[in-house]
Amino acid sequence: MNKAGILNNSTIDPNKILPMRYPWAREYYKTGVNNNWVPEEVPMMDDIELWKKSPERGGLTPEERRMILWNLGFFSTAESLTANNIVLAVYRHVTNPECRQYLLRQAFEEAIHTDMFIYCSDSLGLDPDEIYSMYESVPSIKAKDDFVIGMTSSIMDPNFKTDTTENIQKFIHDLFGYYVIMEGVFFYAGFAMMLQLLRQQKMVGIGEQFQYTLRDESVHLAFGSDLINTIVQENSEVWTDSFKQDLADKMKVAVDLEDAYAQDCLPRGIMGMNAEIIRQYLEHIADRRLERIGLEKIYGATNPFPWMSEIMDLKKEKNFFETRVTEYQTAGNLDW
Ligand code: FE
Ligand code: MN
Repeated sequence: MNKAGILNNSTIDPNKILPMRYPWAREYYKTGVNNNWVPEEVPMMDDIELWKKSPERGGLTPEERRMILWNLGFFSTAESLTANNIVLAVYRHVTNPECRQYLLRQAFEEAIHTDMFIYCSDSLGLDPDEIYSMYESVPSIKAKDDFVIGMTSSIMDPNFKTDTTENIQKFIHDLFGYYVIMEGVFFYAGFAMMLQLLRQQKMVGIGEQFQYTLRDESVHLAFGSDLINTIVQENSEVWTDSFKQDLADKMKVAVDLEDAYAQDCLPRGIMGMNAEIIRQYLEHIADRRLERIGLEKIYGATNPFPWMSEIMDLKKEKNFFETRVTEYQTAGNLDW
């Protein structure tokens, strides 16, 4: 075990941030600050009007409403699950000060995202009891949440320490569960559906809120991946074939769960999206997530939504505000 690295480092004083050892953590912090936003900046008047309209008078179809409700139901509680894991588990074990600075920033962003779902529910006049219990009452949502919560059962023990090879693997397993699977896979079918709706100029307020959230999440995912990579580099004994296989197997289950969720959101396929194309997209992003942490890709699927990869590409994310949201709306008539 490496006692001079990012974990188990007895020489680290968590209060001394300078000099820094992990400049990538600092960069993500600054990127997060540059991306600052709050939900109230996004006007919701058009959404409220469209939400109230009947289908006969140009309102949303029942299928579109279901898709929106399912995504609000999933995300409204998923953001809190993620925040709790950062604060209660990850923060305790990552004592490096610049990483902790980013974790605090991420926790704040999760609070913004939680706020975004409060704001959307309020704006549309949704029943909070219904939305906030969907993670228990809708089986396809519950299955996703149960899966990630199950991936952290051992490290949520207050006596857990990253003091053995096996425990470092458990910790990486937790990071993989929340950063790679929750934020990297379980958020993305929802992002694709909501942004596709935005490209058709429907529910543009919620769509824009999802865009800002996606931009934040792409940074969370990048930080989590670099954190995993650093722990693995510094503790190479943990990176056994059987552990890598375990992570790859978890990814396969995650893709199937997200696929089932997407089919439940869009039972009949709408907006040019159907079960096959969403499955292909999930396989594509799963491969990208695996490769990002040095694992072999599983599926080899091409990206059916190139417009999504443009939005989420981290290199572009700093320019995101300059390319106004309307740019994506004009691309709504792409034929696919
Ligand atoms: Fe979030
Ligand atoms: Mn996040």
